[in-house]
Amino acid sequence: MRRDGTFIAVEVGDQAAADATLAHALAEACPVDIFAQAAGGKLEIVQENLDECVLCRLCLDAAPEGAVRVLKLYDNEAVLA
Ligand code: SF4
Repeated sequence: MRRDGTFIAVEVGDQAAADATLAHALAEACPVDIFAQAAGGKLEIVQENLDECVLCRLCLDAAPEGAVRVLKLYDNEAVLA
């Protein structure tokens, strides 16, 4: 799944997005609530919060490598590493 804000986009692999444990970890990790858990535990990306991203990388640390990508739309979609 991918959601785009004006400046930031977030992409999460389908398998990771269906993992309730990971969804919970991401919802806990992000300081600006870009991740939430839908009913049934599935991950939601909160569209209206995307541009609040502070590039802290906590979501990258909380997920298996490559499962979450944060893209800087203002910088030719550079991937936060
Ligand atoms: S980099 Fe930080 S603020 Fe941005 S989505 Fe990840 S946890 Fe949230």
